[in-house]
Amino acid sequence: MASSTKRDYYEILGVPRNASQEEIKKAYRRLVRKYHPDICKKPECEEKFKEINEAYQVLSDPEKRKIYDMYGHAGLEQSGFSAQETTRIPDLEEILKEFFEGIPFDFDTIFERAAGRRRGRRRRTAYRGEDIVVPVEITLEEAFKGTTIPIEIEREVPCETCGGEGVNKNSVKTCPTCGGRGEVVQGNWFFQVRQTCPTCHGEGAIYEPCPTCRGSGTVRKKETIKVKIPPGVYDGAKLVVEGKGHYGRFGGKPGDLYILVKVKPHKIFERKGDDLYVDVNLTYPEAVLGTEIEVPTIDGEKVKVKIPPGVKEGETIKVPGKGMPRLKGGGRGDMYVRVHIDIPKYNLLSKLLGNHKKVEELLKELQEVLPKPERIVER
Ligand SMILES: [Zn+2]
Ligand SMILES: [Zn+2]
Repeated sequence: MASSTKRDYYEILGVPRNASQEEIKKAYRRLVRKYHPDICKKPECEEKFKEINEAYQVLSDPEKRKIYDMYGHAGLEQSGFSAQETTRIPDLEEILKEFFEGIPFDFDTIFERAAGRRRGRRRRTAYRGEDIVVPVEITLEEAFKGTTIPIEIEREVPCETCGGEGVNKNSVKTCPTCGGRGEVVQGNWFFQVRQTCPTCHGEGAIYEPCPTCRGSGTVRKKETIKVKIPPGVYDGAKLVVEGKGHYGRFGGKPGDLYILVKVKPHKIFERKGDDLYVDVNLTYPEAVLGTEIEVPTIDGEKVKVKIPPGVKEGETIKVPGKGMPRLKGGGRGDMYVRVHIDIPKYNLLSKLLGNHKKVEELLKELQEVLPKPERIVER
């Protein structure tokens, strides 16, 4: 720092030019308490403290003070007064020890409390409420149409007796630790630190826990919440109802309610994404000649489906737009009719027809005229 821009040392310490050593020392102590970087964490404090320290180093040394009084900053520089030596920040402990000279002193505690004071009045920590997870089971039809389901949950809600504070306000007693001031003072004549009272957290009063909630601030309450299940919802979907979980404690946000959707398997429809599969049985002549069959759809209607002649076992016929609603993008998936060729068992056939002789004859006759297939299937 150039001499011309340096502030006057007396001005820095706030003492008159004729101040006694005792006055200078006192002023310095006062400023240490305010600006030492271990106490004040503002960035400007560090610079300020260096300046204070330098001023004190000079003014507390009779020889250096004499040079400064006569020749100012320039005189000190010429006499070899090292700037580096003075800008080093001494430990607070070092400074205090010099002043206290042997008085036992718990520095760790002091610094901790200084830090505590800066944080200001401590409040009880706010906790976010926990989530509630509820599984629901719906039919495929309900998943198709969408539905509203009443869900009974037991939520933690703020206790009405104490308004969620967890304390019995009628049992108020003056805090014995701080005597109602909300803060406690630690230290001694030189170094005093105010700290938020650890017993009452700064309130100055203590209470008994609320008899209803036993101090937790919340009580369990049964509640029925109507949850909308959107059309097209899939098995395993997780729906969230924000803020319908347990209440947060001491001002924390409430949790969320999660609905885990299970879609029951359907008697006739198999779901693959937004598409539905339905299996049908055809007689051999139907498969060969083709036919038109009636197939139920998920919306409760029936649809006529043309089966082309020569359809094979396991083949599917697409019925567009008769699947599940698409959750995103609208519209519906497709329905696929999967055909199976019904081969009745001989004894069942005979039971059904009474006289199987006729059927047997006809089938044998058919066998005569049918073209022979390739026996072994090529891939
Ligand atoms: Zn207290
Ligand atoms: Zn309560």
